[in-house]
Amino acid sequence: MCYDTSNDKTSTSRLYIKNHIVKDLDAKFIEITGYTKEELLGKSINDLFELLKLNILKKKERNTCFFITKNNTCIEIDFYKKDYFYDKSMEFIFIIDSIVKLEDKFPYAYSLYMENKMGVAIYYAKDLRLLKANETLLNFLQEPHNKIENSIGRTLPEILPNWPGSESEKIWKDVITSKKTYYGREKIYEGFNRGITYWDVVITPIIEDGTSVYIIQTITDSTEHVLDRKKIEEQNKTLEQIMEKKSNFFSMISHELKTPLNVILGALQLMENLDTNDLNSSYKLTQKYIKMQKQNSFRLLKLINNLIDITKIEENHFTINNSNFDIVRVIENITMSAVKYTKLKNIDLIFDTEVEEKYMAFDIEKIERIMLNLLSNAIKFTDPGGKIEVAIYDRKEKILISVKDSGIGIPEDMLDKIFDHFTQVDTTLRRKAEGSGIGLFLVKSLVEIQGGTISVKSQYGKGSEFLMELPVKLIDNEVPIEDNRPLSNISKINIEFSDIYF
Ligand code: ADP
Repeated sequence: MCYDTSNDKTSTSRLYIKNHIVKDLDAKFIEITGYTKEELLGKSINDLFELLKLNILKKKERNTCFFITKNNTCIEIDFYKKDYFYDKSMEFIFIIDSIVKLEDKFPYAYSLYMENKMGVAIYYAKDLRLLKANETLLNFLQEPHNKIENSIGRTLPEILPNWPGSESEKIWKDVITSKKTYYGREKIYEGFNRGITYWDVVITPIIEDGTSVYIIQTITDSTEHVLDRKKIEEQNKTLEQIMEKKSNFFSMISHELKTPLNVILGALQLMENLDTNDLNSSYKLTQKYIKMQKQNSFRLLKLINNLIDITKIEENHFTINNSNFDIVRVIENITMSAVKYTKLKNIDLIFDTEVEEKYMAFDIEKIERIMLNLLSNAIKFTDPGGKIEVAIYDRKEKILISVKDSGIGIPEDMLDKIFDHFTQVDTTLRRKAEGSGIGLFLVKSLVEIQGGTISVKSQYGKGSEFLMELPVKLIDNEVPIEDNRPLSNISKINIEFSDIYF
């Protein structure tokens, strides 16, 4: 069926509708939409509008609106409905009057668009419909909207997830009502699957007859730039923290060096002024002052040894001298060597083991260092009347050594920090126990050098338990060495326990 359009002088293109169905269309309509006659004929008016993504916002006689051609080009048209007089059975015809291509309307935006260096899009302000978008802009979008056929002719709320109530919605509304350009630097966008992205956005309203009719949006992705900057900021922060830790460390070290040195100097001065007429009392006092000087010299030595060792660890210069020993015997001997100190402080020291002997390869000096450090802490932070338990558990491939005390405990927020450099729970100079905060860092490093792990469990106010796990391995063809040394090396213990005061 064909309709005569020759009488209608105004027409450029027309579409005939009867009973809501497309009955005919002219060659011009086919030319501007890009669809074939077969693709359009017989379609319901709703399906046709959906196909063309035709946005008729108000059911007026005459509308300016947009449709999307088969090759995804947006065309602005003047579109109106007209009763058809010649065939009363025909409901109405649509007449497309003027056709405008957006690229002709916005030549500057179009050249940016073609350059494709930044994302460029044109929207219809009334319903935020995307009329045109270049490939760079589409790449910002998430599937399926990164394909032109799925986004062109759609509105922003349809394209962007979480649009209603978003900050972006507010910004766009402001641009349209204020008619002022919006410049957004490094705007964070979290709506997409690819996580957080940062955009530099410019949203410019195009004003016609005093109202915002179009919006031109340009976007550049600044994610890489922002992430680089954030990384540098984070590195600076870490550096600042290290600097702060270092400066705290120096003030703490100065305090730790000065305290024993002052005691030594004070004792020396007292010795100089002893009453030589009363030899008996002078002798007793001399013994007391010598003891004080000795303990404080040990304390200095401990600190210096620790400093040398952490430097070695940091520079990877630590060597391991493994030999096959009975770990049970070694741990028992070290524990027993601390009895003298626990007795002086009226603390119960208990040793318990699941196995009678377990031969394995380890560096005895380092295990001694580790255990003396843990024991000296346990004694330092446990009040008289308390209890310290050293226990060995056999885990076949591993051996688990526990040093548990009923002391002051460690606050929960400090548990993961105490193995760090220079961490002390109580950093006030008035704190109950002396120490440099490097002991546990050293312990952890020494355990790890042996292929083991160390952790801590604690209930603040009730006590702490340090758990060290060491791998059980033997050096082939090496006869195990018996650890028969007399309760270990006395001066080593004196050095390790030198910051405990009774
Ligand atoms: P310090 O030389 O100060 O003892 P460490 O590195 O050995 O340094 O210990 C770090 C901090 O961990 C201590 O200052 C103390 O606050 C806490 N700490 C270590 N062991 C215990 C423990 N057995 N009970 C309570 N707190 C402890």
